[in-house]
Amino acid sequence: SKRKGGNSYSYYDPKQQTLLERQLTFESEISTAIENRDFCAFFQPQLNGNGEVTGAEALIRWIHPTKGMIPPDEFISIAEQFGLIQSLQDIVLEDICKLLMELESTSSIPADFKLSINISHSQFRASNFKQSLESTIDQFGIAASRVTLEITESMLSHDIAKTAQQMTEISDKGFTFSIDDFGTGYSNLSNLHAFPVHELKIDKSFVDRMLDPSGLSIVETIINLAKNLNMKVVAEGVESDKQATLLKERGIDVLQGYHFAKPLPFDEYLKWHSTHLAQ
Ligand code: C2E
Ligand code: CA
Ligand code: CA
Ligand code: CA
Repeated sequence: SKRKGGNSYSYYDPKQQTLLERQLTFESEISTAIENRDFCAFFQPQLNGNGEVTGAEALIRWIHPTKGMIPPDEFISIAEQFGLIQSLQDIVLEDICKLLMELESTSSIPADFKLSINISHSQFRASNFKQSLESTIDQFGIAASRVTLEITESMLSHDIAKTAQQMTEISDKGFTFSIDDFGTGYSNLSNLHAFPVHELKIDKSFVDRMLDPSGLSIVETIINLAKNLNMKVVAEGVESDKQATLLKERGIDVLQGYHFAKPLPFDEYLKWHSTHLAQ
């Protein structure tokens, strides 16, 4: 029988078992969906201050046959826990290579156009990470300089020497690194120069608060930091014209958000892209 607050002696927690069961069911659903190719990348455009396309971020989507579209926040961490993240990364990598091939074949690709992909902690730490990245792009004949890897700030505060070495080796191959959700990770800013980082991505939470003076000053600080360190600076989650204008006035390099475009499926991205090329 169950007493209120008396579960400290129990080794059987029905709530927890339900969670584990749920996770296991979900894990097998993800495996099946990988086999059925129900995952794909969507592409969210990135623009410069003149409204010209400079790149896009690949964001994974699970198109479930009965439940519809399932957002990544609902399955990425489960996929990581159960060792399925590599398969998902391979899908996204292949999709960005296909998009780059398509853009190159129609010569509608700006010289410094890049596609970004999100790299989770465990992916980055996997021993075959660098090799699998390289072999996929080689297979498609894509230049590493077309690919940006978005990692999070917290990845820069563990195993600093090892992380810097891994990043240097990858960046020597031509890939570039972007720090995603910048400003949320409490990283030691004095370490930042120790890593080959090419870009800072201002987190949406700061862009959201830009219309308050304190929020605005955080955004300005990050923009100035990036400029002082010779890095590119991107604002994510731009939803209004007002935010876009303020960001441009402060010298932002790249803008991304629903104000310009939502993440788009492959074909819709291609259409959008062709109408936003520099004249
Ligand atoms: P993130 O990397 O910070 O991606 C930005 C998220 O904000 C995306 O959500 C995007 O659709 C959404 N977003 C973009 N512009 C706006 C806007 O103007 N307003 C609002 N409200 N939202 C906006 P999404 O696609 O659901 O992805 C969520 C998170 O899942 C990503 O956050 C990223 O951490 C992770 N993720 C997505 N794809 C992958 C992947 O292929 N691999 C890994 N490891 N993680 C991924
Ligand atoms: Ca991202
Ligand atoms: Ca982000
Ligand atoms: Ca974010």
